[in-house]
Amino acid sequence: MFKPDKLQQRIVDSIREFVEREVIPVASRLEQQDEYPHEIVERMKDLGLFGCNVPEEFGGLGLSYSTYAMIVEELSRGWMSTVGPIGTHSVICDIISRFGTEEQKREFLPGLAAGERRGGLALSEADAGTDVQRISTVAVRSGDGYLINGSKMWITNGRYGNTYVLAAKTDPKADPPYKGISAFIIEKGGEGFKVARDIDKLGYRGVETCELYFDNFYVPARNLIGGVEGQGFKHVMTGLESERINVAARGVGLARAAFEDGIHYAQQRRTFGKPICEHQTIQIMLAEMGTRIEAARLLVYSAAEKKDNGERCDVEAGMAKLFATDTAQDVALLSLKIHGGAGYSKDLPVERYYRDAPLLTIGGGTNELQRLIIARGLIARYPVK
Ligand SMILES: Cc1cc2nc3c(=O)[nH]c(=O)nc-3n(C[C@H](O)[C@H](O)[C@H](O)COP(=O)(O)OP(=O)(O)OC[C@H]3O[C@@H](n4cnc5c(N)ncnc54)[C@H](O)[C@@H]3O)c2cc1C
Repeated sequence: MFKPDKLQQRIVDSIREFVEREVIPVASRLEQQDEYPHEIVERMKDLGLFGCNVPEEFGGLGLSYSTYAMIVEELSRGWMSTVGPIGTHSVICDIISRFGTEEQKREFLPGLAAGERRGGLALSEADAGTDVQRISTVAVRSGDGYLINGSKMWITNGRYGNTYVLAAKTDPKADPPYKGISAFIIEKGGEGFKVARDIDKLGYRGVETCELYFDNFYVPARNLIGGVEGQGFKHVMTGLESERINVAARGVGLARAAFEDGIHYAQQRRTFGKPICEHQTIQIMLAEMGTRIEAARLLVYSAAEKKDNGERCDVEAGMAKLFATDTAQDVALLSLKIHGGAGYSKDLPVERYYRDAPLLTIGGGTNELQRLIIARGLIARYPVK
């Protein structure tokens, strides 16, 4: 079994305590009312969680991906939506830290680390999700900046965030199309940036997912990430590699919550004169759940370790994301079954796990896409004989 070191264990313990004391008691109420968890987010700021992956020189904690995955697992175990405010926020911190100019790092990272700036990734559009190259939002050079026109769909942190990495085409005729994509750091406040609506969702409630509109929205040229056009596809794809580890860790956390609730219920609920955990069918479910969670966690740490070592890990991150999130979905359903009729009621959180889990198989690149990435990577690793 993967073992955290002493510092990681201390961090995990403090996040677990925070989740048990301040998240779990209010999660079901906030989720059912689709209410934004303002107080929890404020506490997450105090804990420094908005700066998890921001280098210490810019005011962050500079944690490894493995440690970040542990934090995400703990938060997600309490309520998956609490990871929303720091999820794509951390992706843009990653992109700016890796690819931003020194000026961009100095201007944006300290505020992001403190949670004063709240970030999101504005990539997907109504007609372009998996097929990122098809985005149609454009950035046209105008004076000492660019004018952005278009719309973005499904943007987490769209309402309560204020700073985004936006992908737009600076050369819509480029061939191949990805060479025409650039990434910009954009901030709310100027004319022409509108949060059009909050999307009502099956799960992942409490945290907002929005449609954004840009109408001649001005961005200064100094906000073009790295200062060079045409690099945006690489920037967002690299950011998505870390997002996949994060989404996989959310899957482990959610699956663990479902498993723990399931095993406790199975020990207490009695039918035919004994606890249901003594019936073989329930035991088979528990064995399946427990084994898959362990395996999922190992895949997450294997991918995170590679990322920490600066190695390419698209295949490993894809494997972790695919397996951990399919596991979350399957374990949530098995837990619901163990709970019988009680699992279908809103009195218990198991129905929430069941509604939350499918997003994990979609966000950060669908699991179908992960299969393609994994297969391509594996084929490349095995030279034709
Ligand atoms: C709650 C929520 C939050 C989100 N947050 C963000 C965010 O913060 N920022 C952001 O930019 N995006 C966000 N997204 C968008 C998300 O990343 C996309 O929904 C996802 O990438 C899938 O894109 P799509 O919805 O356009 O589906 P499509 O790309 O249209 O895919 C539809 C189906 O076709 C399959 N498919 C597509 N292409 C292939 C292929 N080549 N081979 C096999 N199967 C294929 C897909 O797997 C899927 O099953 C969010 C989505 C949701 C639901």
